[in-house]
Amino acid sequence: MSIARQDPEIFQAMEAERFRQQEELELIASENYVSADVLEAMGSVLTNKYAEGLPGKRYYGGCQHVDVVEEIARTRAIALFSGSEGVNVQPHSGAQANAAVYLAALKAGETILGLDLSNGGHLTHGSPANSSGKLYRAVHYKVDDGGRIDLDQVREIAQRERPRLIMTGASAYPRHWDWAAFRSIADEVGAILVADIAHVAGLVATGLHPTPFGHCDYVTTTTHKTLRGPRGGMAFARADLMKGLNSAVFPGTQGGPLMHVIAAKAVAFREALDPSFTVYQRQVLANAQAMATRLTERGFRLVSGGTDNHLMLIDLSDAPYSGKDAEAVLGQVGITVNKNTVPNEKRSPFVTSGIRVGTPAMTTRGLGTEDAGRVADLIADALDNREAPSRLDAVRAEVHALCARHPVPA
Ligand SMILES: *Cc1c(COP(=O)(O)O)cnc(C)c1O
Repeated sequence: MSIARQDPEIFQAMEAERFRQQEELELIASENYVSADVLEAMGSVLTNKYAEGLPGKRYYGGCQHVDVVEEIARTRAIALFSGSEGVNVQPHSGAQANAAVYLAALKAGETILGLDLSNGGHLTHGSPANSSGKLYRAVHYKVDDGGRIDLDQVREIAQRERPRLIMTGASAYPRHWDWAAFRSIADEVGAILVADIAHVAGLVATGLHPTPFGHCDYVTTTTHKTLRGPRGGMAFARADLMKGLNSAVFPGTQGGPLMHVIAAKAVAFREALDPSFTVYQRQVLANAQAMATRLTERGFRLVSGGTDNHLMLIDLSDAPYSGKDAEAVLGQVGITVNKNTVPNEKRSPFVTSGIRVGTPAMTTRGLGTEDAGRVADLIADALDNREAPSRLDAVRAEVHALCARHPVPA
């Protein structure tokens, strides 16, 4: 039996996606390519097993082998993030990890303070469209005119609004987070401090970004962005908060854990503990610097003037085209990015005045610093010549050649 024979409709769509991943240059900052080993674990018989509860304390029989898997996943996660005390590796996603932390830390109606969505924050940091904005009273801080978090503003809002919980971390913020400073603000107002490192987890694990451990009460992350594991989440807490966190994951917000995904997380954590992962993350940063430098030389304005991490935001507020237009033009030449709001956004979230560009996926493919500069030129060439089909054809041909030289690993 095989999907190819039994279910050609699904097989064809899957093959088309494999082809798309190979043929297109992926610059979506939240995406990456997992290894063949991570894929193998995800496609395993562990998906057949119910394992509600925690290792050694399950509600189902037959959990002796998945217990081994989850125990190893937890041990490796703790080893990966020095200063971490406890972790739950069951959250199905980053959003689920955040929902569990809120449930553990808050009562309905209490106030949370997080980064504004249009300034780079995440839906789960108190957007009215998300449960975090419906079940809790959400207030937000913004970035300043230079595109950076203004700690004086954060302190002022915190003192006025007296949040029970301060959320840090972002989906589209190119600069470092100062968690020690946030800790003192949280202490001044008696708030719980949470870091959502969904984007920068791989950089934090390798010491290339300041760490929230030691400063924050809870730390959440995805496992599939810079961390390069399977699609999923996890949540860390101080040792004394682990019991509450565990019951907020199950039975608070989830049912049975995805044991095949937890096995894949364990495999990815082992890869991330290898020295080669630090080499990879260093290249992610070097590629981001090379792209930021070249884009600036080509006349593009970057939010905050550059980047400290794996992503940058191109500000198109003054351009005669929108973020949505830019995403479409780049899509035509085989470069995948996402439109993104910028600080002081004037357009709707469906149109936007920016695009977000990230280097984790292209770096996994083996593109180096010189390639990254060239990719920035290709972006500029495509956008500058967006109404010249023959110029776009030339860019597309070069993108395809670059992709052909750097096959996707798995
Ligand atoms: C991606 C992201 C999430 C959500 O992760 P999902 O796995 O998509 O639910 C949460 N927080 C931040 C800051 C993110 O960037």
